[in-house]
Amino acid sequence: MTIAQQITPANRHLPDLNAAARGLYIDGQWRPSHSGRQIDVVDPSTGGILATVPDATIEDARASVDAAAAAAPSWRATPPRKRSEILRRCFELMIDRSDMLATLISMENGKALRDARGEVAYAAEFFRWNAEEAVRISGEFAIAPSGTNRIIVDYQPIGICLLITPWNFPAAMATRKIAPALAAGCTVILKPASETPLTAYALAAIYEEAGVPKGVVNVLTTTNPGPVTSTVLADPRVRKLSFTGSTGVGRQLLAEASKHVISCSMELGGNAPFVVFDDADLDAALDGAMIAKMRNAGEACTAANRFYVQSRIHDAFAKGLSDRMSALKVGSGVEADTDCGPMITRKAVDKISRLVDDAKGKGARVLCGGEAPSGSGFFYPPTVLANVSAESEMAEEEIFGPVAPIYRFETEQEAIDLANDTEYGLAAYVYTRDLARGLRVSSAIEAGMIALNRGLVSDPAAPFGGVKQSGLGREGGQHHGIAEFMEAKYIATSF
Ligand code: NAD
Repeated sequence: MTIAQQITPANRHLPDLNAAARGLYIDGQWRPSHSGRQIDVVDPSTGGILATVPDATIEDARASVDAAAAAAPSWRATPPRKRSEILRRCFELMIDRSDMLATLISMENGKALRDARGEVAYAAEFFRWNAEEAVRISGEFAIAPSGTNRIIVDYQPIGICLLITPWNFPAAMATRKIAPALAAGCTVILKPASETPLTAYALAAIYEEAGVPKGVVNVLTTTNPGPVTSTVLADPRVRKLSFTGSTGVGRQLLAEASKHVISCSMELGGNAPFVVFDDADLDAALDGAMIAKMRNAGEACTAANRFYVQSRIHDAFAKGLSDRMSALKVGSGVEADTDCGPMITRKAVDKISRLVDDAKGKGARVLCGGEAPSGSGFFYPPTVLANVSAESEMAEEEIFGPVAPIYRFETEQEAIDLANDTEYGLAAYVYTRDLARGLRVSSAIEAGMIALNRGLVSDPAAPFGGVKQSGLGREGGQHHGIAEFMEAKYIATSF
């Protein structure tokens, strides 16, 4: 019996897949798509089908823009306190339903329940945080240096927003955009990844229950993302694109948005270095490495992708990491004792296998794992590789899986140069007991976020985002996240 068949709505902790898959969510209604076609949602732990959701067309995309436009005037005129209370209610309902949401995430994404619970807490926090931000939007007032006039700056909602999100955090990547957009007074169209649509729809039902008016949030899933999102972007009423996903797709969307001069926020790929100096607390570095590598089984944009370890501590670190990685239990995400769930698709497993085989061919030594198992489900075992060549493809590419390649370094400058030897610049990790060195290296590494003696960097109260090819703009943080959804209006006046 599949997990889907075991689940009944009678159990409040388990998701009702039929309800989550009941339609596109446009103008507060659950609708079939114009095409009548459906998308299969696959259980990555078996390869079986969990549910189907509608496959939206460009007609559905137009309907979602109409709905967002119709809802916009009254939502932007809704008092901030009222918007704040609705957002707060979204937070409370998400926490109340966290077991159900975590199970749903685990089912469609495959991640271990522990990770899914962490994601729900993180995702809900964007509603609490932005409920607090909604009532703190302030403007500016100044006397012009010439003394001839006053400068008034008013921050207004930017307008209708298209939000596009990936499958690796189906709840958090959506709420990290929806909550600040709604707090700012914008209406939105969310296009979640078609691999993990059920969480997005389950959350839409929660927003509705929390009192988000119809048309303020619209959700559509499609297997034809290019034409569908281009249709939305071509509508002059749409003023913002906020995208989280790969750098390649981000570049395509930037080109598309440039045709219409649309404001863009881009949260793109990463290639995080994890730098361990000789003087680091070894156990703390290993604990941090496990979090930085294995949260979501390595399927995270912030995942440590390259472990640079100084010579004197190298062997102890490699042994410690391999001991910890080989002790992890691999299995279906929804089983309570699973540490490492399946990858999202067979294609993802094939990519990881290709990268590991390439590294092995260039001299890497396998300390544990290193071979995809046969059988059903999209599994890859926790793997540690030592003696990895800087010429390996995985030094350049996101592995997006449970593989930890270890490289050796000698000097601080060498570590900085290696860390920066990538087109990406999202997150980086540094372990040292020397705080001055830690801050010096943090300052020199080209990344939007540094975790210094920590394995986790994400926090709704901190600005999340990357430099170089990892993106544009920031999400979360004091005023950073909400500012992406507002436009400054300057009024010059004299009195
Ligand atoms: P992806 O770029 O393939 O897809 C992301 C979203 O874009 C999905 O909804 C997809 O359907 C949509 N999409 C794909 N092609 C499109 C097109 N031509 N036009 C419009 N939309 C299109 O990424 P993914 O595989 O879903 O996610 C993994 C990637 O996301 C990794 O590179 C990861 O680093 C990145 N990511 C970044 C962050 C961040 O905050 N920086 C967070 C999570 C994931």
